[in-house]
Amino acid sequence: MVPPTEAPARPARKRKTRGEGQWALGYREPLNANERSKKDDNPLNVRQRIETIYAHRGFDSIDPADLRGRFRWWGLYTQRAPGIPGARTGTIEPEALDDRYFMLRVRIDGGALTTEQLRTVGEISQTYARDTADITDRQNIQLHWVRVEDMPTIWQKLEAVGLSTTEACGDCPRVVLGSPVAGIAADEIVDATPAIKEISERFIGDRSLSNLPRKFKTAISGSPRWDTVPEINDVSLVGVVHPEHGPGFDLWVGGGLSTNPKLAVRLGAWVPLDEVAEVWHGVVQIFRDYGYRRLRHRARIKFLVADWGAEKFRQVLEDEYLGRKLLDGPAPETPAGHRDHIGVHPQADGNFYVGAKSAAGRVSGSTLMAVAKAAERVGSGRIRTTVEQNLLVLDVPKSEVDGLVAELANLGLRSDPSPWRRNVMACTGIEFCKLAIVETKQRAIALVNDLEERLADIQGDVTDPVTINLNGCPNACARTQVADIGLKGQMVPDANGEQVEGFQVHLGGGLGQDAGFGRKIRGHKVTSAELGDYVERLVRRYLDQRAAGERFAQ
Ligand code: SF4
Repeated sequence: MVPPTEAPARPARKRKTRGEGQWALGYREPLNANERSKKDDNPLNVRQRIETIYAHRGFDSIDPADLRGRFRWWGLYTQRAPGIPGARTGTIEPEALDDRYFMLRVRIDGGALTTEQLRTVGEISQTYARDTADITDRQNIQLHWVRVEDMPTIWQKLEAVGLSTTEACGDCPRVVLGSPVAGIAADEIVDATPAIKEISERFIGDRSLSNLPRKFKTAISGSPRWDTVPEINDVSLVGVVHPEHGPGFDLWVGGGLSTNPKLAVRLGAWVPLDEVAEVWHGVVQIFRDYGYRRLRHRARIKFLVADWGAEKFRQVLEDEYLGRKLLDGPAPETPAGHRDHIGVHPQADGNFYVGAKSAAGRVSGSTLMAVAKAAERVGSGRIRTTVEQNLLVLDVPKSEVDGLVAELANLGLRSDPSPWRRNVMACTGIEFCKLAIVETKQRAIALVNDLEERLADIQGDVTDPVTINLNGCPNACARTQVADIGLKGQMVPDANGEQVEGFQVHLGGGLGQDAGFGRKIRGHKVTSAELGDYVERLVRRYLDQRAAGERFAQ
């Protein structure tokens, strides 16, 4: 018998690599529907259509490409129609999820507001948004139940006090995060306020930057506490002292969460305050020109940075965009502990600031107006929002601190919260978000109340923050992967095998000293109803078994 011959080896076929849709490499024809929509019409143009057409003719007159695409460049998302369970998301047409109302995101660069601005947002909320307001973990304020008919008036009122919704969402430079204690903190390295103001005034609404591959998130803080989560922004400038040139910023790029989380990388470059806007502009232009546009899920700058590496990114920035070399600089010292500014703290000028915790970001227009009134009563005209969904009142004289603390507590804003209240965050969730699978805000509020009762006996033993972040889906808007207990919404089986709302648990994520992503542990899925039991078990076990000095994140 003739033995079977082996099949001749085929010459290896060279895999045809498809481009990533980078403009700088010649891919100017749109490669997907999102890119087509942006090319068809600059999304910023939709404002004019809202004012001249849609606000007069109503919701049904809105072009679907504007409704589900370009509206976002003006801070508008359709909110989720009530009563559609999360389990059905993805199995029904997107139109069926659209309510006839909008979420409206008010952009607050640096988290800095005057009391007049806060009162205006509160009034708008009361009049046009059913008194809803959420403080987001990007220092914005988000309203709900907004009608397109009211948008011209809302813009008029916001812009009259110097606020805007320009590029609050969309594939463009979103709100610029800033230290809530910029300009007042005794331990500040450098006050980034002028740089944030320059970026906001020169580049937000700039049509040359309004068609980026995807959203672009910025954090600029001169606080040694890293209070703008620089590890997970697209570009971050982090306060540091250069041994020869003094205070300035360390430049980081490529951080982000969602489904492919990455920590930002240092470029090893030191940037003085008056060059921040120019360098930021260079980084955004790299993203615009070299960012990946073929696939939406690869269109964030973190993928480009991961492929290029820090050295090449810096070289392209210097050679092609700045036309000069940046100075090398030292790494900032990694902070430990709380970054949230909760409590009463002295300012550099002898006054105090009061940081108060909201209930997972949920406030109301009435609450915002009451905060503005309380702040003015004690002589303050300045409010700040934080990336932990909190509010700060600045410039409080010592004699007024106790009264203000009590007044804020009456409004549900605690400056001495329990560890559970202090360290909980929640994204928008199924109440309003079309991508959500589960409820988050009310669940977080109920969880905090529950834990305060269950764990009252050990409250004093929890000395390090144990952060709990509730997210309604894998998108990680409330930073799933960098919480001690990160909760990603999904349907999970209950004890009877029925699919119910619940969470995949990510354990041991953190920022700063403990920077790293939480681990998904097999079997760590919990139903929404069992969340209190689960967290109690976990925290008690940690306290029982921890080694000396061991933090929860370890
Ligand atoms: Fe919506 Fe998901 Fe983001 Fe929550 S994490 S706000 S559910 S997209």
